[in-house]
Amino acid sequence: MIPFLGLKQVNSVYREEMIAAATRVIDSGWYIQGEEVKEFERNFADYCGARHCIGVANGLDALILVFRAWKELGKLKDGDEIIVPANTYIASILAITENRLKPVLVEPDPLTFNICPDNIRSAITDKTKAILAVHLYGQLADMPAIMSIATDHNLLVLEDSAQAHGAEVEGKKAGNWGHASGFSFYPGKNLGALGDAGAVTTNDDELAITVRALANYGSHKKYENLYQGVNSRLDEMQAALLRVKLKYLNIEMQRRREIAIAYANGINNSAICLPIDVDLTVENLSHHVFHLFVVRTKNRLALQQHLLESGIQTVIHYPIPPHKQQAYRSLANLDLPITTDIHNEVLSLPISPVMSAEDVLMVIKCVNNFKC
Ligand SMILES: *Cc1c(COP(=O)(O)O)cnc(C)c1O
Repeated sequence: MIPFLGLKQVNSVYREEMIAAATRVIDSGWYIQGEEVKEFERNFADYCGARHCIGVANGLDALILVFRAWKELGKLKDGDEIIVPANTYIASILAITENRLKPVLVEPDPLTFNICPDNIRSAITDKTKAILAVHLYGQLADMPAIMSIATDHNLLVLEDSAQAHGAEVEGKKAGNWGHASGFSFYPGKNLGALGDAGAVTTNDDELAITVRALANYGSHKKYENLYQGVNSRLDEMQAALLRVKLKYLNIEMQRRREIAIAYANGINNSAICLPIDVDLTVENLSHHVFHLFVVRTKNRLALQQHLLESGIQTVIHYPIPPHKQQAYRSLANLDLPITTDIHNEVLSLPISPVMSAEDVLMVIKCVNNFKC
């Protein structure tokens, strides 16, 4: 059996160090808002190259709290339009509607799966106030172009970096391109906790203070509440475990890139469309951390079944686009053919830092002998 990710195997590599970290927290007697969180926030801000990192309870809250903070700071108001890729994970859209803002869904570039800058330009109206740029599947969105559009039109940019820890273009990482960024440390993400966890990064001092207060009951100062906030804190235990895993993130990222390159060079089947060009090397893949390796095919259920018969587990990210979800019935009539095709054709192959070279060859062989 070749699992899609194999979290138990991924985490068992760090078992001893994680037990030591967990023991430190248990023995400290201090479980919320202590040194572990402070230290992780410092380390992760440094890793991203951002001035601030605020630990929060999960990735969805990270995105929700940034929009909420911009509302409290008078930069956004109810009904403002937020441009977002139509093919994103539902959390991106939820963060917008939760704040009574209006999601404006735009089509991605079919080659990168990321939001298309030209489509952003055509979607801008008088009511547009922000762009939610998602780095889908681990590939940095076209941030130089997006930031230039934002400057031209005076828009805020929030990065959804939940899938892209460490992805980098022009020497600048996810989490340091936009005015703020939301990260998830859900166990299956490239930097995964052993439970829910998330963070906001930003270079904006005022925004950092506001997000931190909102995530802690709206309080800057104990028992004084400036906002009607929420409780969305990163806890000491998850922070301690994340400190261990952050040390190895680059090594895991490198391994993911090696697997992606092996797939790109080894898979040769006219029924299958690859997400990257061949002839790539680990060095020129800095923009992609391969959270997922997503291929396209007209008959993905047959491919999925074919691989499963050889013990290879795959996942569909995602089977139903946000505008076709029951939760967003009001968006159901949007005409988004690229997004619809993507959702009908994508299949994610196993990619995991603990995958062996034999496993990778096995996947390549089975994909190559698929006939549709
Ligand atoms: C996982 C994910 C989120 C949400 O993160 P959680 O920690 O699960 O709340 C948001 N956006 C994207 C693109 C994601 O993949």
